Amino acid sequence: MSFKSLGLSEPLLRAISKKGYETPSPIQAKAIPPVLEEKDVLASAQTGTGKTAGFTLPLLHLLSQRPVQKHRPIRALILTPTRELAAQVHTNVKEYSEFLNIKSTVIFGGVNQKPQVATIRKGVDVLVATPGRLIDLESQGLLSLKRVEIFVLDEADRMLDMGFLRDIERVMKLMPDKRQNLMFSATFSKDIKKLAYSILNNPVKVEATPENTAVEVIDQKVYRVAKGKKTGLIIKLISEGNWKQVLVFTRTKHGANKLCKKMISAGITAAAIHGNKSQGARTKALAGFKSGKVRVLVATDIAARGLDIPLLPHVVNYEIPNISEDYVHRIGRTGRAGASGEAISLVSADETTYLRSIEKLIDMKIEVEVVEGFEPDPNASTEPIKPGQNRNRGRGGNQNKNSNSRRNSGEGNKNSNRNRNRNKNRNRRRNSDNRS
Ligand code: ADP
Ligand code: MG
Repeated sequence: MSFKSLGLSEPLLRAISKKGYETPSPIQAKAIPPVLEEKDVLASAQTGTGKTAGFTLPLLHLLSQRPVQKHRPIRALILTPTRELAAQVHTNVKEYSEFLNIKSTVIFGGVNQKPQVATIRKGVDVLVATPGRLIDLESQGLLSLKRVEIFVLDEADRMLDMGFLRDIERVMKLMPDKRQNLMFSATFSKDIKKLAYSILNNPVKVEATPENTAVEVIDQKVYRVAKGKKTGLIIKLISEGNWKQVLVFTRTKHGANKLCKKMISAGITAAAIHGNKSQGARTKALAGFKSGKVRVLVATDIAARGLDIPLLPHVVNYEIPNISEDYVHRIGRTGRAGASGEAISLVSADETTYLRSIEKLIDMKIEVEVVEGFEPDPNASTEPIKPGQNRNRGRGGNQNKNSNSRRNSGEGNKNSNRNRNRNKNRNRRRNSDNRS
């Protein structure tokens, strides 16, 4: 199987080989042909399997075969949930279209709209956007989606998780009825199927499950540790192991900041990335991390979603997530595109229940280790921290008895009633983190 045999044009093949890709990934091999046949496609494959090229390459192929229109109206719209993802997807679009007569740009919130508007005014064929800024500019009359021929909903599961359902519905009304629709998702839930049903016409469904799932190729380990000794342990592991590029997950933004400060005091370059940071600060933190200037990036789940950090050697769960699926997403940040990686979790007594449900989900027992001097506290309670509860700040208002309920992370929404109506409102939830 080669990119050529999939029927992609010569300028695209040139860009692909410049990028260093030799063979299509399984999801690319499955998704590209039906997209080229102008069918609606529903594709699902795990994070890190190359879904972006799976829709971008055939989309560019189709657009480049059609006549260039006067004033270059937006002919393809790619909707993504977060600013970082939008930027990454656009980088890909630019790389793949290098040898084509195709113009593209990206828009998202948190930054000045003027340069975005100016670029759109000059004419772009492909627009990558987050929902908020897109709707904002459209309602100001600064862009039109009336000539869109291809619509892509990327990371559809994330979109739903982040409460973008309404925005998606709104965007669909702004486009012509006759268009090609592509929907890409890491997971394939009931909600996704429902959304697919409302967006796609007679879709071709493609799915790829890698032979070695991320969970199998990643070396996983649990360190049992007293809650108060986690910071000391993580600093020891990073320094003594001489780890150069470490992504650390914390439950809360506050926790991310605190840990980041401690790392810096210990002489480890670190930056935090979460929803309370300005777009500039987030971009800078990510760039510093990618270039190797920043050794440790401390992130919350929502902020880290979809970040493409190639060949990340170490992922640390400073706190393990109470939603088991998040564990899989987190450790999916290591061992991407076939590279091996290591995922470590620091687990205190109160996280025992979460650890068990993670092990149940991934259907394996994770190896446990204890480091001398950082032993777990034998008297600590194994009572789990309830979602929404934050012991440090004494916010006890929004506890939730159901430990399987969704997000706990203290991200974004400060409404203490939120948990009660959570399931009902899940799709409508407004989570300020990363919203644009
Ligand atoms: P997903 O959207 O499925 O999470 P991405 O599209 O972000 O995954 O791709 C993950 C990584 O794999 C990126 O670094 C990308 O450059 C790389 N990649 C994609 N396709 C290929 C390929 N055919 N060969 C090698 N690497 C690839
Ligand atoms: Mg993706």
